Amino acid sequence: MEAIFMTEKEHTGLNLDALFIGDKSENADIFKSTMNKLVNAHMGWRLNYMPQDKPLITESDKNSESFQKTNERMQSVLDELSVRLRSNSVPWHSPRYFGHMNSETLMPSILAYTYAMLWNGNNVAYESSPGTSQMEEEVGQDFAKLNGFKEGWGHISADGSLANMEGLWYARNMKSLPLAMKEIKPELVSGKSDWELMNMSAEEVLDLLNSTDPKTASDIKAHSARAGHNMDKLGKWIVPQTKHYSWMKAADVTGVGLDNVVSCPVDEHYRLDVDALEKIIRDLAKDHTPILGVVAVVGSTEEGQIDPVDKVVALRDKLQKEGIYFYLHVDAAYGSYARSLFLDEDNNFIPYEDLKEVHQKYGVFQEDKEYISKEVYNAYKAFPEAQSITVDPHKMGYVPYAAGGIAIRHKDMRDIIGYFPVYVYDKRSGAPATLTPYILEGSKAGATAAAVWTAHRIMPLNVSGYGKLIGRSIEAANRYYEFLKNLHFNINGTEVEVNPLTQPDFNMVDWTFNIKGNTDLAKMNDLNLKFYQKASFVGGPVYNNDFITSHTDFATDGYGNSPVPYVKSLGFSEDEWNKVQTVGILRACVLTPFLYDRDNFESYADKIKKAMEEKLTAILG
Ligand SMILES: *Cc1c(COP(=O)(O)O)cnc(C)c1O
Repeated sequence: MEAIFMTEKEHTGLNLDALFIGDKSENADIFKSTMNKLVNAHMGWRLNYMPQDKPLITESDKNSESFQKTNERMQSVLDELSVRLRSNSVPWHSPRYFGHMNSETLMPSILAYTYAMLWNGNNVAYESSPGTSQMEEEVGQDFAKLNGFKEGWGHISADGSLANMEGLWYARNMKSLPLAMKEIKPELVSGKSDWELMNMSAEEVLDLLNSTDPKTASDIKAHSARAGHNMDKLGKWIVPQTKHYSWMKAADVTGVGLDNVVSCPVDEHYRLDVDALEKIIRDLAKDHTPILGVVAVVGSTEEGQIDPVDKVVALRDKLQKEGIYFYLHVDAAYGSYARSLFLDEDNNFIPYEDLKEVHQKYGVFQEDKEYISKEVYNAYKAFPEAQSITVDPHKMGYVPYAAGGIAIRHKDMRDIIGYFPVYVYDKRSGAPATLTPYILEGSKAGATAAAVWTAHRIMPLNVSGYGKLIGRSIEAANRYYEFLKNLHFNINGTEVEVNPLTQPDFNMVDWTFNIKGNTDLAKMNDLNLKFYQKASFVGGPVYNNDFITSHTDFATDGYGNSPVPYVKSLGFSEDEWNKVQTVGILRACVLTPFLYDRDNFESYADKIKKAMEEKLTAILG
């Protein structure tokens, strides 16, 4: 028997059951009464502004036939909207959903978003949204603190893809500045060879830029990569094979170019292989090809795996002594919020030896298991050494779309990408600094900032708040992994095996079905694709589906030969892999906040097993 820790409900801290609508709308009354209160507050706010002004829509206007007809029209279009949404939306909220990075979102964030939307703040400029702009500033500070940046800064972006693009924007401009300095003010970098200029650290570059007067700094910036200068000299952007495809878009749009994106192999756990990274860098450095930067992924999109950020940092520091430097961006779009698991209530990174005890105290996990490996812990610990980090509130922040984000280590770094359009940022107006000069977007919803701010204020970004919520999803994912490991089917005499890909670092579980003894990889791929078709919108109305998952392919063009160990472990030959060159995978991001509980999980496990069995029977006959 494993020891059972105190359950969520016995713990005196936050009760997460109060923060979701619930898959059976259990908290509907709280949701509706709170929404009503908020809507009333907004209506009163309108009414009370300048009470001397008379209403412009009169009662007799409202009684006119055209008014009535227009209202009827509005009602019927909204009914149509409702029909469409009810019949064509994915039931993320249900514990039967084991697909993409989505689940039920936080009730307070839905309320905050809807409420704030009534004011329609535009965080493009402080003057159009003083309330929500201030919230975004605070949220940016939260992002910086979460990631361990003491002098950092951050903001909300539309999504993780744009945050990644912003990371590359920073790296690109940074890398090009020393060449611009040589051109504009050579004495700043006198005595340095071009190779040395291409290997100056971000900190050195910022210090030099800050040491000049604003006019010179501005001239230097005007001769940087932003003007299109020296684009062919910036070198390679190295990303692991597990990269999100936003990196390709970012390389395309920033002018870095897809040919300058180098894919680094991953190890058998689908984590970036640091030895391979070192070899790639040394080979490039041999013929003086600079390294524009390296991306470490924390929570890979297809496996949820966590790259060894600490080892990448150690490599950076080692190579720096040899005169080779790279910018480091951590793509933690998926995994960043999980850093809360390691922060105590004073924002200190909890020592590894104390972690279990602290997690016990806060009721983070039910079971006494090794859910968090030392490798994963070390990766999170090293975050503050990166230059920039992608953070997606709309993934593990459980906040509605669209809410991505980025945190940077040095606030000053903003100046290397900054613009100052007069119409949104007039220094003379005395308004606090506005966001637009430093972000890719223009107009953006203040409601998003309100939703993220509210979530952070209710659930602190540490072990007492988000740590607990994310612990629930990690525990559920591990239960699902164990469930799959012990699962097999007999479909009218055909034995079907279930093979999870790897022990999850985080909360994603990948697996395949295979017919026992089958050595034909294409046949296995076909089986898993057919299963996916039956377990997704592809197979018909998704509302009628009793188990929903997602699917991906690991193919040689993205993954090289990294899938070989898995494919071989299932009994396929290397020849078979070389012939087919792809393996189809079923993929579950286990975000549900409810299956952490052993009894809840078990009751759903039976239902899921039955649903899988029915689908396999329909496929195999
Ligand atoms: C989801 C994800 C992204 C992109 O984020 P969006 O918000 O979907 O644009 C980038 N990187 C990783 C690792 C991701 O998981």
